[in-house]
Amino acid sequence: MKKNLLGLSHEELVEFVLELGEKPFRASQLEKWIYKKLESDFSAMTDLGAGFRTALEEKAQIGNMEIVKEKSGRGGLTRKYLFSLPGGDYIESVLMRFFDPEEGDRLTLCLSTQVGCAMSCAFCASGMNGLSRNLSSAEMVEQAWHISRRLAGDERIGNIVFMGIGEPFANYNETLAACRIFQDPARFGIGARHITISTCGIVPGIKRLAGENLQVRLAVSLHTANEKLRKELMPVSRSFPLDELLEACKYYQEKTGRRITFEYILIREVNDNAADARELGRAISGMNAMVNLIPLNPVDEFAGKRSPLTRIKIFKEALDEFGVKSVIRKERGLNIDAACGQLRKTHKSPDEMGDAGTGLNEIN
Ligand code: SAH
Repeated sequence: MKKNLLGLSHEELVEFVLELGEKPFRASQLEKWIYKKLESDFSAMTDLGAGFRTALEEKAQIGNMEIVKEKSGRGGLTRKYLFSLPGGDYIESVLMRFFDPEEGDRLTLCLSTQVGCAMSCAFCASGMNGLSRNLSSAEMVEQAWHISRRLAGDERIGNIVFMGIGEPFANYNETLAACRIFQDPARFGIGARHITISTCGIVPGIKRLAGENLQVRLAVSLHTANEKLRKELMPVSRSFPLDELLEACKYYQEKTGRRITFEYILIREVNDNAADARELGRAISGMNAMVNLIPLNPVDEFAGKRSPLTRIKIFKEALDEFGVKSVIRKERGLNIDAACGQLRKTHKSPDEMGDAGTGLNEIN
């Protein structure tokens, strides 16, 4: 079997070139080709000796996955990619273009960390069929690598958010290893402050992250500050109740001094009442936090409805009274099944790959 070089650490890459009888500096050259020039073809790596290139073609490969479907959202601000993995699994990533008044156009990539998800949140398409397996750090990095190759000119991914399929803290070590690869200046060189890990509330993961020497940002999918409702919507709350979750968030803040983002999807008349906002306000007032208010992205299996903007604005005003900062996030990709796991779920068999054309025609 050929060795997949994508996702190997620098040390592993050095070991591999030594095995092929080459000097260690060849590993740095390879790294540059793979991560800076995004090259996949060894024969194009012209500063490597001909013998070495032939050996690489025989013994190595760059990447294991393939993009089998792409869909763009209106205006091209969102693009969703479906990947096939060896063994027949599928995962997805979403690229979003945001305009930041300070930093200009920024490309944010939303990555998957698992094939499926075991968390069973009631409103989420990713967990509908349970968990198949964890992704390796290499597979997380490969999502970014393939998508980077498709970007125009000098465009680069500026932010990574671990908010695709899966629960990052149920796959902690691989997620953290991926963060380090993204950060590495010889690789993607994305500053840790531009990397966000989002969790449904796995308390030990939050505490562990607090102790890492890594400046990545933390987002917590809260969705309600009502314990009874949270247990219904998010079964993870049965293992890690709300008070323990909020304690862990406070501990994280004390240790790191960093702001936490709370994700709050608004489901009409379920968690979007003024009383819900007050409960949230009381629970997190005084914390250095930002609440992202996100209208529910409807999924077939969940009866909940999106909150209208008028209700979301009232909710936001109620939070203001507790001094809790919030933003109403413009949702993206409603028309391209960009709610987590939707594309993968509708893509049942490889026979449907022909769909890729249809999906694109729809929007172009
Ligand atoms: N497991 C992690 C990361 C993946 S989910 C987490 O729970 O944070 C990424 C975000 O999408 C979470 O905030 C999740 O609650 C949200 N999400 C899931 N289904 C959604 C839907 N139908 N509409 C809007 N947001 C959704």
